[in-house]
Amino acid sequence: MYVIDLTHCLDEKGMIAPQKGPARKMTHFLTAVVAQASDLDRPSETPGPFCFKCRKRDESVVDTAIDTQWRIVWCQCHRA
Ligand SMILES: [Zn+2]
Repeated sequence: MYVIDLTHCLDEKGMIAPQKGPARKMTHFLTAVVAQASDLDRPSETPGPFCFKCRKRDESVVDTAIDTQWRIVWCQCHRA
């Protein structure tokens, strides 16, 4: 399990700091996971965020959830 503090992805103004490259791609994925997991009104059939590891996006989505300790978690993508 990895624990990620998203505040490390922000600049001093609270904006997403990485502008390009793998750090930006990872930050984009992580914020999509947070948005998906924290949207408690979303229909259950809504697909999860695209996996940041997979190059092809066909069905390479992850499932998100909030665990019993209020951590946002995601499961390995469906392609892996
Ligand atoms: Zn994947």
